[in-house]
Amino acid sequence: MKWASTILLLLGLIVIFYMTREDEAQRTDDTRSEVTVYGFDVGQGDSTFIQTKTDAILIDGGNNGKGDDVVRYLRALGVTRLTALIATHPDADHIGGLDTVLEELDVERVYAPRVNHTTETYRDFLLAVKEEGVTIKTAKAGVTIPSESVELEIIAPVTDGTSDLNSWSAVLRMTNKDNTFLFMGDAPIRTEQQLLKAGLDVKADVLKIGHHGADTSSSIPFLQAVHPTRALISVGEGNSYRHPRPTVMNALAAEGITIDRTDRMGTIEYTSDGTAITVKSRKDLRPN
Ligand SMILES: [Zn+2]
Repeated sequence: MKWASTILLLLGLIVIFYMTREDEAQRTDDTRSEVTVYGFDVGQGDSTFIQTKTDAILIDGGNNGKGDDVVRYLRALGVTRLTALIATHPDADHIGGLDTVLEELDVERVYAPRVNHTTETYRDFLLAVKEEGVTIKTAKAGVTIPSESVELEIIAPVTDGTSDLNSWSAVLRMTNKDNTFLFMGDAPIRTEQQLLKAGLDVKADVLKIGHHGADTSSSIPFLQAVHPTRALISVGEGNSYRHPRPTVMNALAAEGITIDRTDRMGTIEYTSDGTAITVKSRKDLRPN
């Protein structure tokens, strides 16, 4: 009888030991899969940041003069090195601040679409990349960005763009287990149609709306195919372009999509654990 209870006690201890180990393994895995996405407040322009356990990926850096804010936000988040920098297209409200970012932080990889542009702002960017000692990798459909934590695929430009620089926009899809984010840059309806025609899976939980909510992007068929829960709009308060446009706002409302605007919420933080996404406003990360 005494032997039996001793054996039972030992078995119990063994079970508890293995259960605890499994718990720990589970916990490590959960931490690894946590991903944070930031829609930085850069006024009228775009700058989005993805932080995982192993990656720090910046998509665009706002206008000229916003680079200092972007660098300050990144430092506040403990970032000193970018694993990847994506310049979606050569417009100033996307690449203007990137020369400062390249000067202030170490950058491992730079991606940009293969399009020529002759503005001083674009030349500053190219010069800063050169001084960083890296070569630009072409951003186009089918390019995968290496990551140990998430899946990162560039799905556009599908073909060469037109004289409209927006049509060259690099579009990035990031998947963290069950959670997907789609970053459109300023991609116009032409790109949306190309993606749909290619039969690509564009479904996403969070859609970074193309072109600051202009009505040249975010067609209804595309919104329906992406079928997001939330839409991130990077836009400046009282901007002269009158972005976001009512057509787009109405379409988003009609599709039951929750709208997150940087002009109202400041910097927006999305935390994905691979299953669910939580959203909060980061008023502490605001422009000087
Ligand atoms: Zn733009």
